[in-house]
Amino acid sequence: MTQITNGELFENIKGMLCNSGTDTPEFEAYCIFEDIMGIDRTSLMLKGTEIADAERAEKAVSLAKRRCTGEPLQYLLGEWEFYGLRFKVGKGVLIPRPDTEILVDTVIEFFRGRNVKEPEILDLCSGSGCIAAALKNNIPFAKVTALEYSTEAMPYLVENLRRNSPDVKILKGDVMDGRMLDNYRIEDSEGDYRRIDCIVSNPPYLTAEEMSSLQKEVSFEPAAALDGGADGLKFYRVIAVLWKEILCDGGLLAFETGWEQGAAVSDILNRSGYENIRIIKDYGGRDRVVCGTRCAD
Ligand code: GLN
Repeated sequence: MTQITNGELFENIKGMLCNSGTDTPEFEAYCIFEDIMGIDRTSLMLKGTEIADAERAEKAVSLAKRRCTGEPLQYLLGEWEFYGLRFKVGKGVLIPRPDTEILVDTVIEFFRGRNVKEPEILDLCSGSGCIAAALKNNIPFAKVTALEYSTEAMPYLVENLRRNSPDVKILKGDVMDGRMLDNYRIEDSEGDYRRIDCIVSNPPYLTAEEMSSLQKEVSFEPAAALDGGADGLKFYRVIAVLWKEILCDGGLLAFETGWEQGAAVSDILNRSGYENIRIIKDYGGRDRVVCGTRCAD
């Protein structure tokens, strides 16, 4: 590569992203620049006329090229922030979304108003572990367990919990498999395994139609983390009934849902023995979280 300045390199990268139709080329160019060149927005003003480090410049351009093919920025950077914590992300694991913070807020809010000494929280379909880690960090006395099935996601989950909240317990298994509940039956020989205070989940919820027309970036993410069956509701139906077995009376079930699924998921909760059902909207004013509490038997 011929010698170019930091300023020229930045403009080149921004131009590449712009031409590829990226929504926020300037922001993303700054992210790549900061990560690879070690130069943030402010220092670029000072170092704009300096010659760019050739090796790093080559790496920055190669990342920008990958970004132009649609690969998510978060995968290229290898890390992303959620609820003020940093999470390792990459191929094989769903990228934490800002809207999911509303699910975390809902659970924190639930326990704020109650005097539960050491709440037991179970995060199903944990993926990167962002929900489990955010909850453990904000409800320090909670006993949090993260369940995940995917072998590809597991290394991210392990590393993210090690970094952010090492006390969270990890279970590997399929949320749709009733035998997973044996983990609780075995632990508590008294038979009182209905001790979970909160089940939280951001399960796969895209419909078959949505799966067939994914946004380019989303198509790089694992289908298993997105595909919720024909109508996108497969996981809600199973989780609401199957895992209710270990949820205590008055315990919270809190789901993230697709923005068009609020009513359908409320209905599932209503028919599966939950009350106090609420739909909570996301930052864009669309349905995003559905929660309810288990009715007493
Ligand atoms: N929020 C993701 C999306 O719309 C879907 C995540 C999920 O299925 N849980 O891309």
